[in-house]
Formats: sequence, structure tokens, C-alpha cells
Amino acid sequence: MSTVFLLLSCLLFKNVFALPGSFWHITDQHWDPTYKLTDDPNLVCASSSQRPAATAGLFGDYVCDSPWHLINSSVYAMKNILPDPDFILWTGDDTPHVPNEDLGEEAVLSIIGNLTHILKQVFPKTKVYSALGNHDYHPKNQLPGGPNNMYDQIAEMWKDWLDPESQRTFKKGGYYTEKLLNRVGFRMLVLNTNLYYRQNELTTNIDDPAEQFSWADRVLTEAAKNKEKVYIIGHIPPGLFEKKRSTTWFTPKFNKMYVDLIQKHHSVVLGQFFGHHHTDSFRMFYSNGSPISAMFLSPGVTPWKTTLPGVVDGANNPGIRVFEYDTQTLLVKDVVTYYLNLTHANAVSERWEKEYRLTESFRVPDASPSSMHQILELIAKDPCYLQKYYDFNSVSYDLTECDSDCRVDHVCAAREVDFMSYEECVVKEGATAIYAGFLPLLSVALSLMLANR
Ligand SMILES: [Zn+2]
Ligand SMILES: [Zn+2]
Repeated sequence: MSTVFLLLSCLLFKNVFALPGSFWHITDQHWDPTYKLTDDPNLVCASSSQRPAATAGLFGDYVCDSPWHLINSSVYAMKNILPDPDFILWTGDDTPHVPNEDLGEEAVLSIIGNLTHILKQVFPKTKVYSALGNHDYHPKNQLPGGPNNMYDQIAEMWKDWLDPESQRTFKKGGYYTEKLLNRVGFRMLVLNTNLYYRQNELTTNIDDPAEQFSWADRVLTEAAKNKEKVYIIGHIPPGLFEKKRSTTWFTPKFNKMYVDLIQKHHSVVLGQFFGHHHTDSFRMFYSNGSPISAMFLSPGVTPWKTTLPGVVDGANNPGIRVFEYDTQTLLVKDVVTYYLNLTHANAVSERWEKEYRLTESFRVPDASPSSMHQILELIAKDPCYLQKYYDFNSVSYDLTECDSDCRVDHVCAAREVDFMSYEECVVKEGATAIYAGFLPLLSVALSLMLANR
């Protein structure tokens, strides 16, 4: 009798008692060891590219990469806010934006070593899944599709986080897979997408650098066979940069290969987590019009204003982020972004505060692909939601209006990861914008004509 009761209650309450879990995602810390407070704004940091750091303070400046004080502050803020996460995702870019001549293999390794050390020191018992960024190599962006000294050294630094097979694939191509938290049925796939970066001269002409695609295809096929659920993390995302029209990272061939990989394996992929943009955004993947997967682009810790031509005032406040998920299904339930208002921190005091909770701000039940699709539709149609999304995009740094061109850039980048479909979206959404602006004028003209009859 009691067994039947127990069984019944288990069945009835299965969903009610879904086990919630949470993890951190941090990315793009870009530590600049040259950062120092001085009277001459031109001498504050090497990463400013000759731009004066006019408001430099203890926690940094918007034209500079992170001082150690900011890195330290962000890691201790993580410890304060969520001291015992299930795991940490760390998606790379540790070194400053400076010319190659100012760094070197030793300097890059030492920076990665310092950031690894502070994470281990503050979260000694937490498993970290760590991906390489395009700045985590010397020379930057030129990550090889084969064994080299830097992959060996980094595998050594991260050996507590890598099982023997992960060490082997990491040393071969900077990628690996592990059971998620050693649990049967759950998997983490850590990609080295820097191999697909159009600026990587070592890999552009190779069909499948480090055989990463064929390896990922095998891992995901095997995962489906074993009924596993998978998270994918990496640094450079496929698709387009939402802050500048038609700006891509991957070569067209690799972009298509990535989209095909997700199209083929979406049923086991429960979430994709990337960085590189330093902004807060997301990307949708569709199959026959239905949302099948969402990629979360988390904001960076560095506030560094991008030097990318055509981007106006592309800085951000330092951001860190908690994902809440269902530990049984790996469904992403919510996203909570915390940030440091850099101006306030420098002027008054250090205050890491909640910026927003996704389900509250966009009134969706969770962060599933269908909810993320709903959010995208809200942003596309409702100027209030567009503006809210846009404020969050720079972690509440740029609070200017997102105009009609801005709307097209952000909506199309989020909607279409495929390059061709993005261009079609730009034409279509651009036309919609013109039409929407034109419509009121047309109706006034028509009513005048009718009135004149
Ligand atoms: Zn970066
Ligand atoms: Zn990057």
C-alpha cells in the first residue's frame, strides 16, 4: 500500500519537484596588467589604444581592459552571490587588447595562469569547464589545429578540470568533452571555435581543423544513442555581431558547418553558452520555423570600448551571470545577470547588483528555445521591449535609443545565424521599418485625398 502511494506521489509530483540547480558563466575578463592610476590619462593602460582614460578609477576605465582589482572584485562577487554553484563556465579571452609585440607566449600563459589560480582559490571544490578564447594564444587569433606548446601548458594548468581523454583532445585541438558533473546521461562539450575565426590564418583553408567537427558529430551521435543531454560552450559564436551590420566571425564554410551540426543534433543539445561579444545577447536556431535551440551570449567582465570601426561607444559595464536550470532535464529555467556600475564603483563604492532576471523582465515562463523565441518576437515588435533588451545589451552602459537600424541589426543577428538568411532578414526587416514609418503618412495622404473629393 505504502509503495503504491509512494509511486503515485512520485508520478504526480515529478514535475513539481524538478530539482533546480544553478551555475556561473563568466567570460572575457581581459586582464590588463599595465593598468595603473596616474595623472596622465594617456598612461593609464596599454589596452586603450591611445585613447585617453579620462575617468580611470580603482575598478577600471571604459577604454581599458580590466585591472586586477576588477577581476578580483568580480570573482569575490561570484562567491558572495552564489558561493556554491554546481559548476562554472568560463569561456575565455584572458589577455588585454594590445599588439602582439607587447605580449608573448610567456606573458599569455602567465595571465591565463593567474586567472586560473584565482578561480581555483575562491572556488576550490567547484568544477570549471573552460574554453579558449582568441586572445588566449600568442600570437592572438592564430590558434593552431594541431598540437603545440601552449595547448600543452594550458592543459597542464587545467589538469584538475580535465579527465585523461579531455587532456588528450585538448592537447590536440583545444577542445574536450566530459560527463557533466560525472553524472550518467549529462554531458558538456567544450569547443575551440577560434579554429573557425576568419582572422585565423592557420585554419581557414583546412576542411575540418583538428577534426573538431567530425569529433563533435561523433560525440553528439553517441550522446543521442545513450540518451544524454548536452550543453555546448565555446568562445567565438557563429552568426553575426549585433552591434554592427553584416559583421561575421566564422568563415562562411565553418559557419554553415556549425549550423548543420546543431540542426542535426538539436534534440540532445539543451543549451549553448558563448562569449566574445562582451555584450548580452542571444541567438536562435530554427527548424521549419520552430525554435530548436538557443545560444546565450554572456556579457564580459572587461568594460573595454571596442575599437571596431563603425561601432559607436561600444563599451559595457562589467557583467557576470547565473544560469538556473533543471538538473534532471538540463532545461535552462532562468538567467540572472549581475553587474558593476563602473562609474559608481570608481566614484563611490563597489556594488555588484542584480541587473535583471530574464523571466521577470520579459515575462516568459523559462529560458527554453520557445521562450527565447517569444522574447525575440517581443523585441522585434514592441519598442519598449526592444529598448529594455538594448539597455541590457551593453549591461546598462549605453542607454541611448535603439533606432530602426539598430532594431534591424539586433533582431536579425538574434534570429538568423546563417549568413544568407541574415542578409534576407535585413532586407525584410528594413522594408518593414520603412513601411511602418510610411504607413501613417500614407493614411494621412489618403484621408486628405478623400476629404478633397
Ligand atoms: Zn573578448
Ligand atoms: Zn574574443
